[in-house]
Amino acid sequence: MLINGQWVDSASGERFPSYNPYTEEAWATIPQAAESDVDRAVQAAREAYRTVWSKTNGLERARLMMKLADLLEAEAERLAELETADNGKVIRESLKNMKQAARYYRFFAGYADKIYGEVIPMDQTHLFDYTMREPIGTVALITPWNSPISILANKLAPALAAGNTVVIKPSEHASVTTLEFGELVRKAGFPDGVVNIVTGDGTVGNFLTRHPGIGKISFTGGSATGKIIARNASENLIPCLLELGGKSPNIIFADADLDKALAGAFAGVFGGAGQTCIAGSRLLVQRPVYEQVVERMMERIRAVRLGNPMDPATDMGPLANKPHYERVLSMIRTGEAEGATVAIGGKTGYERGLEKGWFVEPTLFVDVNQRMTIAREEVFGPVLCILPFDDEEEAVAMANDSKYGLASGIWTRDISRAHRIARRMECGQVWVNTYRINAAQVPFGGVKQSGYGRERGMHTLMEYTVVKNVMVDLSV
Ligand code: NDP
Repeated sequence: MLINGQWVDSASGERFPSYNPYTEEAWATIPQAAESDVDRAVQAAREAYRTVWSKTNGLERARLMMKLADLLEAEAERLAELETADNGKVIRESLKNMKQAARYYRFFAGYADKIYGEVIPMDQTHLFDYTMREPIGTVALITPWNSPISILANKLAPALAAGNTVVIKPSEHASVTTLEFGELVRKAGFPDGVVNIVTGDGTVGNFLTRHPGIGKISFTGGSATGKIIARNASENLIPCLLELGGKSPNIIFADADLDKALAGAFAGVFGGAGQTCIAGSRLLVQRPVYEQVVERMMERIRAVRLGNPMDPATDMGPLANKPHYERVLSMIRTGEAEGATVAIGGKTGYERGLEKGWFVEPTLFVDVNQRMTIAREEVFGPVLCILPFDDEEEAVAMANDSKYGLASGIWTRDISRAHRIARRMECGQVWVNTYRINAAQVPFGGVKQSGYGRERGMHTLMEYTVVKNVMVDLSV
């Protein structure tokens, strides 16, 4: 683990295996942090903030971040291979994630020396009032297993740009690239203690989020864990940024460019083997084109090549870890038990003849209604439900009938309708005639049980700063 610029083992010396989801073999061992390790990491981050980082100007922070981006790009292929070995994501997607992460560090480096306050005109002219935007101090960053390095960049880049120090806790199921990334942080020349990494299971996240030395928690993961973290944060009365799950609707109108809509809907849910928070897992299709969309989606699914995620010819890799694989399979069985029909897919890799790997076929459910578990709960796997609708009103009502509110897609050639519906969607991100495009410049986050706070874009800088007001009586 990386604590105060040094590579250290856990206090207990305890380690646990990390599994390659394609070979099903343990391929790395990861330190299991004890509470004392978490405490050391938080103390190191706080001390680095007090002594060095709070005195480092924005220009220097930007220089270090740019160097980090260069190193990340130079190491992108190696890191992509490690990440694919750790979480089974196809190599093409892992490589894209690394390059995207480098872009985030560059984008936020540009802001590091441009975070400033305002002068406020007062009624009493002898009073001079101004604000400053200050860093929070030490922030906890907790990341999941689906895209460790790019999700970390969403948090770490703005946190560093704004002048915070951090303690990172990656998922126990995919910690390897975050630890490797720690070495790039060292090589870039960040002062010791600015970036610390502790590893282990959920108990480590629990120690970290309860620690009184933490000023804010930024978390990406499941809604259930998000609620635990928000409760922990309430004990110290600190704010959270929670980027949680979703059950995002993708709405295809009969007037849409169906080639584009099908390609977008397919990639929108099956990219990353469905293990993305923004997966468009509810496809709402206007009745005149419903049958056609079902047929054509089945054709696309039939053509998907499952296999070794390191092979560039593979379309979809295994699911990231065994407990998750079992959870996805059980949700498919629940879908069938509740009366939905598997139009295609639903089998494991073994049932399909693959000898190893936690594979689940891309799966399409029809005969689904909005009350079914498969249409309400996040699967976080390659599972799509298709539901028909008649008109705009019904589409909006169905789309918003969810406890989640992360993203949505609208496919139509009617530009007025697109804007009308975008306004009515209860979610943080609406895509029109496209889906699942992220960019450093664009704010992203959820409403309802998809969480709160925004990542990316200049909006997220506000998440990692606090406003201080200074009032001066000039008559003295
Ligand atoms: P979690 O939400 O449990 O994991 C996310 C991170 O939180 C991991 O680093 C995890 O550590 C950590 N964590 C776990 N428990 C605690 C705790 N009590 N306090 C602080 N941190 C904690 O995700 P899962 O892996 O369990 O996945 C469950 C579901 O969450 C998925 O099936 C999916 O629905 C959703 N999910 C959503 C993601 C998104 O991008 N929005 C990403 C991943 C999952 P550890 O892994 O070591 O337990």
